[in-house]
Amino acid sequence: MKKNTIKVSIIGAGFVGSTTAYALMMEGLASEIVIVDINKEKAVGEVMDLAHGIPFVKPVDILAGDYKDTKDSDIVIITAGAGPKPGETRLDLIDKNYKIFKSMVPEIVKYSPNSILLVVSNPVDILTYVTYKLSGFPPERVIGSGTVLDSSRFRYLLSKHFNVDVRNVHSYILGEHGDSEIAAWSLTNIAGIDVDNYCKCICKNCDGNFKMGILDQVRNAAYEILDRKGYTSYAVALAVVRIVEAILRDENSILTVSTLLKGQYGIEDVYMGVPTVVGDTGAKRILEVNLNEEEKGNLKESSAVLKESLSEIKFQ
Ligand code: NAD
Repeated sequence: MKKNTIKVSIIGAGFVGSTTAYALMMEGLASEIVIVDINKEKAVGEVMDLAHGIPFVKPVDILAGDYKDTKDSDIVIITAGAGPKPGETRLDLIDKNYKIFKSMVPEIVKYSPNSILLVVSNPVDILTYVTYKLSGFPPERVIGSGTVLDSSRFRYLLSKHFNVDVRNVHSYILGEHGDSEIAAWSLTNIAGIDVDNYCKCICKNCDGNFKMGILDQVRNAAYEILDRKGYTSYAVALAVVRIVEAILRDENSILTVSTLLKGQYGIEDVYMGVPTVVGDTGAKRILEVNLNEEEKGNLKESSAVLKESLSEIKFQ
């Protein structure tokens, strides 16, 4: 008989981890959710708060546990990690999180050797690569949230500019989840009409300045939210649950998760956000979409930024 329970574990009960648990619970996708945090009291508190809402959603068991409680998870979502401290460099942060992942990933793998690992902690592309190396899992089963959130921010901003339903806006942000990410303008379309033609149809301004401005807003979105409320949680949680849904329902959805490139776009041995078919085995296939020459060049530059950071890590 086919397995009829779905277990999802979340490592890290911070803003992102606990909001992801809430969104997951609301979606009714999992029959068991386990939350692990080095700060056990925080995990217990979040779980109590979530569990008191269970009468209002589909049946689910939620518990705060240790790694042994994550045993046989279908998906393990990693949101744990250290945030930047004043005066710390980007490399200090990578180094600190590498050490955290070195203690965390072997524990996850020990108890859930057949799971799919979904990394959300930042810098997500770097830490997804680190997780891939530390886990020994095939790359299909180690994915990062990549630019799924950035792509949704991009589509949202375009939908506001054009005053159309965001579900009719199709486009991607690709590359690093960070400052070097690129907008795939050459693929952007509104209900199948390419963006430049759509602009002409409705007499809207879509010149280079407009395009750069929109990309800047996407790139700066997290900084702006952090300045105002100190963290981001809602949209990232929904993006993570969207990826989880694509996996659990074997949807073969095309999402810009962070995936290991093996020569696609002339790039290899780096994780970054590219359109990928996501289903029950994880990242099933990377799509090589038709970017223009400028976009291809910018995507390569984005991969170079990530490779430089990776070269600083002493894998051991
Ligand atoms: P947070 O500080 O609120 O939560 C992090 C949690 O990790 C804390 O509860 C902490 O106790 C826990 N933790 C630290 N070390 C641990 C360990 N060794 N084992 C278990 N738990 C441990 O941070 P947050 O706001 O929830 O953000 C979490 C991560 O998600 C950050 O790296 C953040 O940058 C990232 N993030 C990613 C995206 C994305 O799109 N990929 C978006 C938003 C945030």
